[in-house]
Amino acid sequence: MLPVIALVGRPNVGKSTLFNRLTRSRDALVADLPGLTRDRKYGEGRVGDCDYIVIDTGGISGDEAGIDQRMAEQSLLAIDEADIVLFLVDGRAGLNPADEMIANHLRRHNKECWLVVNKTDGLDPDMAVADFYALGIGQPLAIAAAHGRGVSNLIDEVLAPFVPDEDELAAEKVRKHDDSIRIAIIGRPNVGKSTLVNRMLGEDRVVVYDEAGTTRDSIYIPYERDGQKYTLIDTAGVRRRKHITEAVEKFSIVKTLQAIKDANVVISVIDASEGVTEQDLSMMGFVIDAGRALVVALNKWDGMSSDQRADVKVQVERRLEFASFARFHFISALHGSGVGDLYGSVNEAFDCAMAKWSTNQLTRLLEDVVADHQPPAINNRRIKLRYAHQGGSNPPIIVVHGNQTAALPGSYKRYLENRFIRYLKVRGTPIRFEFKTSD
Ligand code: GDP
Ligand code: GDP
Repeated sequence: MLPVIALVGRPNVGKSTLFNRLTRSRDALVADLPGLTRDRKYGEGRVGDCDYIVIDTGGISGDEAGIDQRMAEQSLLAIDEADIVLFLVDGRAGLNPADEMIANHLRRHNKECWLVVNKTDGLDPDMAVADFYALGIGQPLAIAAAHGRGVSNLIDEVLAPFVPDEDELAAEKVRKHDDSIRIAIIGRPNVGKSTLVNRMLGEDRVVVYDEAGTTRDSIYIPYERDGQKYTLIDTAGVRRRKHITEAVEKFSIVKTLQAIKDANVVISVIDASEGVTEQDLSMMGFVIDAGRALVVALNKWDGMSSDQRADVKVQVERRLEFASFARFHFISALHGSGVGDLYGSVNEAFDCAMAKWSTNQLTRLLEDVVADHQPPAINNRRIKLRYAHQGGSNPPIIVVHGNQTAALPGSYKRYLENRFIRYLKVRGTPIRFEFKTSD
């Protein structure tokens, strides 16, 4: 499972700056917490072989009342979700009473906690950290988040216990290559995930096995349908509830991100009666960044007027253009309409995500594409594309070799990519192209 790093500290110490440095996703996911003005941000990143999730807790100042109190509680909840807490302080401002209050909070939490002294650019690192030993959190580490100084060392050090060893990597490989399609059901609270999970498992043709091991919070449910094995990754925790009415804390962004990583195909559930929201978009952005196959279910299609339906279809066209590789389904999880059809798209997306193409086949395709439309010349020398091979699956990666490929214009890359996608009939999964110069 991905390690989760929470950034805590009083406002203005540099949490957002560090967050941006540690994450590479195009969007941060913002927890939608009603009534709170400042929310937690979630992002994803990678150092070396280690992927991780980062949470920016938004800030605790130590002496909150009212709304601040509730915000601080949310920050402390984020700490509960984390494996590692980075407690940031400001090396320029020196030790602050609010830092001491936060240190007290953290000591009660009993979490793996690192004290990080930020803004040490232009300061002597030993001098800058000296004051902060007094917090009793251990050896302070000096960084300058704004300049990136000390950041990769910091991350290497805190992630060291989480780097998977060879046995774990081997076990992971076996698990990933069992013959079941792993489907994650994701979406904002109340979009109908639990209803959909129950529907998908409740169908006649479905044989549900005993629950497999549970991880952090999502539940893995193996089953079989029409001779195909599936494992449903249930982020809504349906099977955890003893009674259907029992409210458990159902929605967690950490859980969602973990499930996306661990799935082959993601079903992104949107509440069509509310339209497409920002949070829907950023969750789908994460699915694409992770390279996962995607099926979109616009739920609650029942009970919508034809005007509302037309409006949602326009929104889908305008706002979900970036996910146009995916199949869209208009369903009612409540009544079951359209639910069975999801499987056709899930299977297709999985098959495309796992497809294997020979170097021969890809190279011949490349030759055709180039013959129809040559790449331009750069400095009087024509860019040559020589051969292509497959570099991975789920997502499929196509590696194109040639000379001067770094100079290939974006428009040409798009032409080539579109042709490949069309001829290889790739549907339902993002596909990545890498261009390498090999002369
Ligand atoms: P947050 O409120 O904890 O999220 O803090 P921000 O990330 O918004 O940073 C607060 C201010 O500190 C901004 O003006 C940043 O540019 C500045 N800052 C952040 N990191 C550094 C650093 O490493 N060095 C210096 N000199 N300033 C920094
Ligand atoms: P979750 O938080 O995403 O797991 O959402 P739930 O499955 O708990 O559903 C939230 C609410 O939406 C419940 O009241 C459901 O009965 C309702 N709901 C779910 N699917 C549909 C649907 O297809 N149509 C309608 N009208 N309501 C639905």
